[in-house]
Amino acid sequence: MCDLSKNPREGGRLTRRGFLKIPAAAGAVGVLGGSLCAGTAHAVTLTREQRDRMTPAEILADMKRGNQRFRKGELKNRDYLAEQKVWAKGQYPAAVILSCIDSRAPAEVIMDLALGNIFNCRVAGNIANGDILGSMEFACKVTGAKVVLVMGHTSCGAIKGAIDNVELGNLTGLLAKIRPAVKATSFDGERSSKNAAFVDAVARKNVELTKAEILKKSPVLRQLQSKGAVKVAGAMYNLQTATVEFFG
Ligand SMILES: [Zn+2]
Repeated sequence: MCDLSKNPREGGRLTRRGFLKIPAAAGAVGVLGGSLCAGTAHAVTLTREQRDRMTPAEILADMKRGNQRFRKGELKNRDYLAEQKVWAKGQYPAAVILSCIDSRAPAEVIMDLALGNIFNCRVAGNIANGDILGSMEFACKVTGAKVVLVMGHTSCGAIKGAIDNVELGNLTGLLAKIRPAVKATSFDGERSSKNAAFVDAVARKNVELTKAEILKKSPVLRQLQSKGAVKVAGAMYNLQTATVEFFG
């Protein structure tokens, strides 16, 4: 059994909502990021069933709640070693997140997610390419993840580089993939990397274009979304406010 005394910030919430005790009729809301207990290895099977019962909307709502905990300084008091033991024989992540390499925006931390909750693709400027699409198809079609979340962030250095037409080794080719977002961004004001509002507008447009690119170039994900099995969504993480804004 879970020892709630080891998790004082959770209070009695785990008893009410922890996935080991949720009645089937109660649905799966609130389980993503839920704490696991070292002595409950059999929870792996239940966790997969729980994940499979969740809708993409419920998974996104859980991510939103996790970000609220992060913003309030109410992160779950995790036992990563216990989580590691539970997940050692298999994984059933609920989502795959494509985000930037920025050191200040690690998805698991800013959305208070547990080990094994998400696949994590990170590349500067959160752009998609064939390898990223293949990873997403593995995540969703093979292992059953139900959300593809493209998450940009404010003050993104890759976006600034694309605006400034930076050329540097292999970075040149990466920034070329962001440049269509620079051109496609409607903006009244100075279109410069020194204008934070423009940089953030391009970052948001880049998320929208990347979402569209994923669905255009991946018939596998397109079909899963058309069946309602997968939702391709977008988000922006604000470095100043610590808020993840979900859209689309
Ligand atoms: Zn970035």
